[in-house]
Amino acid sequence: MWKRDRNWNNWRWQLKNRVKTPEGLKNYFENLTEEEIKGLQFTYKSFPIAVTPYYLSLADKRDPSCPIRKQIVPTYSEIDPNVQVFCEPNALNEESEIPHLTHRYPDRVLVTLTTMCPVYCRHCMRKRKVGKPEKAISEEEFASIWDYIKKRQQIREVLISGGDPLVLSNEKLFHYIGELKKIDHIEVIRIGTRTPVILPQRFYDGELLRLLEKFSPIWIVTHFNHPKEVTEEVTQAVKNIRKTANPVLNQTVLLKGVNDDTPTLEELFRKLVKIGVKPYYLFHCDPIYGVVHFRTSLEKGIKIVAGLRGRLSGLAQPTYALDLPGGKGKVVINPQYLLGKGESGYIFRNYEGEIVEYRL
Ligand SMILES: *Cc1c(COP(=O)(O)O)cnc(C)c1O
Repeated sequence: MWKRDRNWNNWRWQLKNRVKTPEGLKNYFENLTEEEIKGLQFTYKSFPIAVTPYYLSLADKRDPSCPIRKQIVPTYSEIDPNVQVFCEPNALNEESEIPHLTHRYPDRVLVTLTTMCPVYCRHCMRKRKVGKPEKAISEEEFASIWDYIKKRQQIREVLISGGDPLVLSNEKLFHYIGELKKIDHIEVIRIGTRTPVILPQRFYDGELLRLLEKFSPIWIVTHFNHPKEVTEEVTQAVKNIRKTANPVLNQTVLLKGVNDDTPTLEELFRKLVKIGVKPYYLFHCDPIYGVVHFRTSLEKGIKIVAGLRGRLSGLAQPTYALDLPGGKGKVVINPQYLLGKGESGYIFRNYEGEIVEYRL
């Protein structure tokens, strides 16, 4: 079928042939659950559907618990008022007076260049606006962003996110990056993109690779959630990026039923380090409207992270963190290792649960 299409490795073909309708998903999956059927009937009207043929091909047609399937098939729980409680569409307060720019920390800004993504992840924390409609920012809007950054010396880093900035043409994306690099106080450019995972063919584009090399270093931060996503195609994409002298990091979201157990995350982080990707953050799932059914408890998250500490190389350990509501910023969550101060020193619990005194 599809997979034999001679254009399979062409990213533009993958984008053009995204599955964007309930019918498209119904044709692929063989035994949709009641939740999924209702999702395809109602939910997609609030939160759009899109998936590349490549990423869809990783999903199990018969197994509703497939971790890829859960990330792409809408369910009724996304809009079920009994499920979506204690949450808001924009819990992290990302808007500001300059459209498409969030300036939360003094030294860095978040900029979103488009609302379009190749795949609409069901757990997206920006689902209030992604794909509604698919739209890139205008030159005028970019000019306001540029002026804002130019006027503020304390900003050293621009984090370009989305939507997915890599759906833009090479020309457009690097025009923007070039303009940002002209500002003397900008030291770091970071791109948040899921394309290495859901559209690895993007990095088979020779022109993109040449531009990535020309503008190196650009910190590429991607978004793997499950070991099943680390395929041959992805391994090749990461290799291609790394040849352009740009570091590749990963942010995972802790998702109920997808990756909320220690063995799954252990396997994922091992695989990432093996292909040259550094696990950067493990995010606790935010209280965003439409995403609440993916949330786990903090206790469970801490237990999982404590389990990883004993089993995995330090290189493979991400920082577990959550975003405080109202734009109050990220906080790091750690299992408790320092228990207190005793008569003659500090008391620690090590990764095996053993109590150890550390003398002053
Ligand atoms: C997460 C985030 C950043 C980046 O934070 P780091 O800890 O540097 O990865 C910057 N701005 C906003 C608004 C963010 O939400």
